[in-house]
Amino acid sequence: MRVRFWGTRGSIAKPGPRTVRYGGNTSCVEVRGEDGTLLVLDCGTGAHELGFHLMANEPQPIRGHLLIGHTHWDHIQGLPFFTPFFVPGNEWDVYAPHGLVQELRDTLAAQMDYTFFPVALNQLGATLRYHDLLEGEFSVGSVRVLAQYLNHPALTLGYRLEADGCSVVYSTDHEPHSRQLALGEECLHGEADRLVNPEERRHLEFIAGADLLIHDTQYTAAEYPARLGWGHSTLEYVVEMACAARVRRLALFHHDPMRDDAAVDDLVQRARDHAARVGSDLEIFAAAEGQILELGGGAGGATRDTGPLREACRKLPAVPRGSALAPCVVVGLEPGPVRTLLVTALEDEGLRVVVAGGDAGLHEAVHRDAPSLIILRQGDADTDPLAFSRRLRESALATSVTPIFVVTDAEDPALIAAGAEAGVSEWLLLPFSGPYARTKVRAWLLRGRDGWDNAAKPAEGAGLTGA
Ligand SMILES: [Zn+2]
Ligand SMILES: [Zn+2]
Repeated sequence: MRVRFWGTRGSIAKPGPRTVRYGGNTSCVEVRGEDGTLLVLDCGTGAHELGFHLMANEPQPIRGHLLIGHTHWDHIQGLPFFTPFFVPGNEWDVYAPHGLVQELRDTLAAQMDYTFFPVALNQLGATLRYHDLLEGEFSVGSVRVLAQYLNHPALTLGYRLEADGCSVVYSTDHEPHSRQLALGEECLHGEADRLVNPEERRHLEFIAGADLLIHDTQYTAAEYPARLGWGHSTLEYVVEMACAARVRRLALFHHDPMRDDAAVDDLVQRARDHAARVGSDLEIFAAAEGQILELGGGAGGATRDTGPLREACRKLPAVPRGSALAPCVVVGLEPGPVRTLLVTALEDEGLRVVVAGGDAGLHEAVHRDAPSLIILRQGDADTDPLAFSRRLRESALATSVTPIFVVTDAEDPALIAAGAEAGVSEWLLLPFSGPYARTKVRAWLLRGRDGWDNAAKPAEGAGLTGA
């Protein structure tokens, strides 16, 4: 595979004399398979120059695949200016995360609404096909694509590309699940087994053994406390994860708009020092606009077996916002600002929210509403979330597999490990924002379609015991 960076900046384009070396354009990366398969990762402002390059150098008509991680501005702003989309005869497949109510085509059309742009999406000359993605995998030419959710306040997919015996992982706009790792207070010492958070382990497995990892490193641990919940990684976290995952090369990416070239150089040096302390031979550099990497002669073990194929391109039935058919979330928290924040965020997401208090109330809600997701809080006097989770998992109810989130004030590794044993799916570490909570909920509802399947099922089987 060949990789070329056309945009490396995060959040907003930042051209100027202080960003010439690493570049000012936002996310856009070109990847080529050896058979010529053309993939473009994200369509930030870097896509403008890529478009002209393709028009001048590519055999016409152009056939390509655009994989969008998420539809925040810095990842799609180049789309209305991507010349190959305007030329009849060109054919493009466009992929992005599946929404709950809105389809990808409508989301992209919205940014080209008459108010914002003179040409509408349906007036583009090229043939565009839209694919709403869930977690899973699919093939594009010779390239196998694995998609997995990242942790960001908008539903975001990371992409792992495998071809020609090597692998590239594109993982940008991702916040650590573990706050201690993000703050550099916790070290893995190169050992993946030290990770206790199940979601963090999934992320590590996703990047494991990559020949090239392109990862969001927008912040440092020192900057992170003021940017909690903004959905980005710290350098310290990424180096720890990459070392433990036995990644070969790490490209620092999604450079903060406030970080000039000298500051990015400094980041690279700090990352290299950190990897040396861990005793890792991880190769580290900062992605620079125009930079080309040839990957080949992979180590052989770079591709991985993910078990049964989960098809990533799927159409889910549309669910009217807030309707009786919308997935139900049971919020079992005591009254207070956190419960109010959750209820508001989930209703904004179009979900049906049922507030239930205490073990008896929860028991009734689980039977009556067959929830697609349950949220509890560690420390509430009325309910012990781990005991509830254990009982539900052991029950014969159709909802025994329903994801359970637990809100907690402090990240306690012993508690998280006990939660994993008890069947807790996800931890919401305070403080968090509404967009952050609703994205986590949305990701779990879309996983495996459980959200829809449960909504359609009546409660059945033996009840919860010991409630
Ligand atoms: Zn971004
Ligand atoms: Zn974003």
